[in-house]
Amino acid sequence: MVKRIKDEREVLWDIETDIAVVGGGACGLIASLSAAEKGVEVLLLEKEKKLGGNTSLSQGMIPAAGTRFQKAAGIDDSAELMAEDIFKKNNYESDPEITLHLCRESKNLVEWLVDSVGIHLDIVTDFIYPGHSRHRIHAPSTRKGTQIVNELRTVISNRKDILLVQQSPVRDLIAKEDGSVIGLEVEIFGQGINRVRAQKVILACNGFGNNKEMLRKYIPEMADAFYFGHEGNTGEGILWGIELGTATQHMGAYQAHGSVAYPHAILLTWVVIVNGGFQVNKQGKRFSNEYTGYSEHAIEVLNQEDKIAIEIFDERIYQSVLGFEDFNQCIEIGAMKRGETIEELADLFQLPPKELRKTLESYNRATEGKGEDPMGRQNFQGPLKSPYYGVRVTGALFHTQGGLKVNKRTQVLKPDGSTIPNLYAGGGVAVGVSGSNVKGYSSANGLLAATVLGKIAGEEAAASIKG
Ligand SMILES: Cc1cc2nc3c(=O)[nH]c(=O)nc-3n(C[C@H](O)[C@H](O)[C@H](O)COP(=O)(O)OP(=O)(O)OC[C@H]3O[C@@H](n4cnc5c(N)ncnc54)[C@H](O)[C@@H]3O)c2cc1C
Repeated sequence: MVKRIKDEREVLWDIETDIAVVGGGACGLIASLSAAEKGVEVLLLEKEKKLGGNTSLSQGMIPAAGTRFQKAAGIDDSAELMAEDIFKKNNYESDPEITLHLCRESKNLVEWLVDSVGIHLDIVTDFIYPGHSRHRIHAPSTRKGTQIVNELRTVISNRKDILLVQQSPVRDLIAKEDGSVIGLEVEIFGQGINRVRAQKVILACNGFGNNKEMLRKYIPEMADAFYFGHEGNTGEGILWGIELGTATQHMGAYQAHGSVAYPHAILLTWVVIVNGGFQVNKQGKRFSNEYTGYSEHAIEVLNQEDKIAIEIFDERIYQSVLGFEDFNQCIEIGAMKRGETIEELADLFQLPPKELRKTLESYNRATEGKGEDPMGRQNFQGPLKSPYYGVRVTGALFHTQGGLKVNKRTQVLKPDGSTIPNLYAGGGVAVGVSGSNVKGYSSANGLLAATVLGKIAGEEAAASIKG
């Protein structure tokens, strides 16, 4: 809720800060740092006991164009090319100005994170996501967002101008009657409400993936789907914005994933597909072109019997993905099975062996250019060879992509284009660049919006305080 007050002198403030940041994922951590670097004090509030939100669950893949890391690897990329890839995927539905701005700023973000903040990221050249026309993913060595979160936390804990408080859900915003935001109410360690006076508030508390009521309203097709995102993301940032009269956009947009190990609930990285794997249903038959994208592919998986598919790959692919923390977890937890022959693998997953062999042979023929792929897939890495591996997977909702409209400075906007004074938003609270539905998500759009908008939000909020 938003609490309206006539006169701020009526309020007994418990804490005063320059900037209050709501949410401790990539957006909030980065916003706090970029603000503090400009010479202001920041109070960073995280609802949960553990820091990191969806960012910790992610593979930490941040897309950026024109970075010095790309140049060193001989990759010629540009913001315009990156934006065009995003537009092609979302059918030109995302805001052109914001999309291009994010792509232009992505280079500064990644170089600042590595060179100034000290975060470890490498340019990823061992695979390329569908729809990315250049290698532009920058990721930690573990391919896990927890590494980014842990490194950011270490930097933050060494600064005296950022106070990080976990286990402290923000319950309400406090605004004047004219709608300008002047603070918030937060419940610190379950010990009652504290009123925080803040000159600026940055909403970095992601979307509504874990709010069934909002899902039923905006994304009914995923309301009952398995939610694989962070439990803290219950949509209050967006609800506060709506209460203050902010415009929202593309509320039906979201990212899903068609490759979550089931019932183990571990992400089997999509690189298995990109490097040549395929999926079959319980009948041993392929059911779609897996290469279109992991987000929309979730819907295809959820349409199969028992909402299940088996992802099939071979030793070459297995070796190429070893080292991804999620993939290794799938091995450790027993989600992965291995067969010397395809019939042996079929037996392990109770699939019809003859049908699975037929599927494999037809797939392999297509990989060798000896026939059309029945599903229309065109990207392969050669035939699969013994030994074979399989993982039972399902489709899941990861995070929502619709949200509050913001301008290039991340100020929150009303429908007439005016701003809500003192309020900024980034990451999953703000509308992303994935168009209006599940098909528009280009790989790594999530961290693009979280990291780039987070940096801008911190800088802009600090700059407006400093005058
Ligand atoms: C399994 C998985 C893998 C993914 N992999 C990738 C990837 O490799 N690349 C990519 O680009 N995207 C990926 N994504 C998406 C990406 O993780 C998100 O888009 C991104 O992390 C969002 O960052 P954020 O800072 O907006 O939100 P989050 O990282 O979710 O942080 C939001 C934080 O706000 C807190 N919060 C919520 N409400 C309140 C409140 N009232 N008070 C205080 N705190 C609050 C939450 O507890 C949470 O910690 C993945 C998502 C998932 C689920």
